[in-house]
Amino acid sequence: MSSSEPGRPEPLSPGRLTEKSTASVALLEAGGPDRKAAIHIPAAFSQLFKTELDWDYTTVPQTQLSRRPVYWPRGRMLGGSSSINAMMWVRGFAADYDEWGNLCGSDGSWQGLLPYFRRLERITGATDPDHGRSGPMNIEPQRNPNPHTAAFLDAAKELGHTVEPPQHSNAHRLLADHGEPATRRPVQHRGRIPQARP
Ligand SMILES: Cc1cc2nc3c(=O)[nH]c(=O)nc-3n(C[C@H](O)[C@H](O)[C@H](O)COP(=O)(O)OP(=O)(O)OC[C@H]3O[C@@H](n4cnc5c(N)ncnc54)[C@H](O)[C@@H]3O)c2cc1C
Repeated sequence: MSSSEPGRPEPLSPGRLTEKSTASVALLEAGGPDRKAAIHIPAAFSQLFKTELDWDYTTVPQTQLSRRPVYWPRGRMLGGSSSINAMMWVRGFAADYDEWGNLCGSDGSWQGLLPYFRRLERITGATDPDHGRSGPMNIEPQRNPNPHTAAFLDAAKELGHTVEPPQHSNAHRLLADHGEPATRRPVQHRGRIPQARP
């Protein structure tokens, strides 16, 4: 497996452990090797579902889904679920990290974690100063993006929403119309999370 595939950081941990020491690292894995071609083709990941490379779990019945159980794929091979995943690189929203930072210390905040994102990334065509340029994980834009995605984003712009480039340092700070991070609103409505900071 190449350690430079997006969304697949798993070989980095043993790599980092041995990087600066002579320690030997024992890697225990219930599954087999990761040689199958579909493992290394982002769009082919669903071909691995319910095969011998998948733990093929099913959740308990979900109350919010009319008690339907849900199929829950998990990789069973070297690389684990990273070898069955869609290889999308998504940093996440700063507001969510900041919330963790508030709960467990600033190391978990967006600013606390940003150096680690940068250290991990090697983003093709990086434009943002916050983009990593020389890390072990090669990240590039989709080669054949679905035209519907562009149409959807154009429609969002037409409606007055701000559309930021992927992995842009502001993207995680997008605020919805009410001055709240859009991702947080549904939970806020249940009254469990305090109001967002401006
Ligand atoms: C279908 C799918 C698509 C996804 N798409 C993306 C994506 O595009 N981008 C992204 O960032 N994330 C994605 N994810 C999520 C991401 O892959 C996981 O969050 C991540 O791989 C979890 O890493 P982990 O080390 O916690 O667990 P895992 O990667 O699941 O590793 C656990 C490993 O332990 C092994 N194991 C389990 N039990 C035992 C045992 N008893 N003895 C020995 N070995 C054992 C398993 O076989 C597995 O190899 C996706 C996940 C799935 C399932």
